[in-house]
Amino acid sequence: MRSSMKQNIKNLLFSELEEYFLKKYRQKFRAKQVFKWLSLGVTSFEEMTDISKKMAEELSEDFYISNLKVVKKEVSKDGTVKFLYELGDGNTIESVLMDYKHGYSICISTQVGCNMGCTFCASTVGGKVRDLEAGEILDQVLFTAKGEGKRISNIVLMGIGEPLDNYENVLRFLKNVNDEHGINIGYRHISLSTCGLVPGINRLAEENIPLTLSVSLHAPNDTIRNQTMPVSKKYPYGELLKAVKQYVKKTGRRVSFEYTLIKDVNDKPEHAKELIGHLKGMLCHVNLIPVNPARGSMSPSEKKRIAEFQQMLVSGGLNATVRRTLGTDINAACGQLRRAETKRKEGELI
Ligand code: SAH
Repeated sequence: MRSSMKQNIKNLLFSELEEYFLKKYRQKFRAKQVFKWLSLGVTSFEEMTDISKKMAEELSEDFYISNLKVVKKEVSKDGTVKFLYELGDGNTIESVLMDYKHGYSICISTQVGCNMGCTFCASTVGGKVRDLEAGEILDQVLFTAKGEGKRISNIVLMGIGEPLDNYENVLRFLKNVNDEHGINIGYRHISLSTCGLVPGINRLAEENIPLTLSVSLHAPNDTIRNQTMPVSKKYPYGELLKAVKQYVKKTGRRVSFEYTLIKDVNDKPEHAKELIGHLKGMLCHVNLIPVNPARGSMSPSEKKRIAEFQQMLVSGGLNATVRRTLGTDINAACGQLRRAETKRKEGELI
């Protein structure tokens, strides 16, 4: 049984683990050993063979080691693997492993559910249940790598949840996943996607963490954005772009804009023109994605329309590509698997 007094050891930063071992044992170096074991995905202190049995016992009095259970695993024809993971408290989240030419990339969740309410997104149906802890965010990388026997080289925080709505835990996760004593994935190999929480973007700009910021824009103006993304009412278009420009200035990093094309809603030539007006001259890249009709009645734009939209952006001076959609045959769009599983469970209860 998990005592409520204990905490997940993977929520601690490496420096905090050092402090713990220094205070309790006057043996700071133990932090290195334990942190390494944790990054290999061990699930008990007994597995840490270079610490004494007594120390393992004492550690398990102070901490527990979180684990993830695979509830469902779906493999796409294109090699994409989607996992529905169960957390220690029975809640479920999704992670997706993608096989790219440059290595394996994992898309991970940051919250159980989401409060942002985007009308096209399956993750937000039912709202947010809770934030993920730093260790639980990390677990998706650790256990997927361990379970699949793969080396993961890239991470995208684009699964269920809004990372900037769980700022502290996400930051802890970033520091630990990047730590040289653990799996040490470079910040340049990490992307964080946000629906546009302006205070979070401003804060992130000050952290000196050279990750790639991805902004889910999905519209050329407030009128359209308000229809699909309620967050836009709180942080309007102008404010959002101002924060992103400031982010680019401060970090020198190119930002990415996600633009999901919804038939007849945001995919017309005048929309492309308006978008060019907003983004021209900015160090950015636009990712065009046909909407996955996960929810509601919206349809993806036709291929021809998408190509024309992209061409217009490029002619207008923007760097724009159409994203290759992976795993469409396995419901790989955000939140779809968890939603399907929740529905199935609800169905079983009736
Ligand atoms: N909350 C963050 C990250 C999670 S969503 C954000 O909003 O960016 C990850 C990406 O998937 C976002 O760009 C989101 O807008 C997009 N997305 C969600 N549902 C989608 C769907 N049905 N079709 C296409 N893209 C979708």
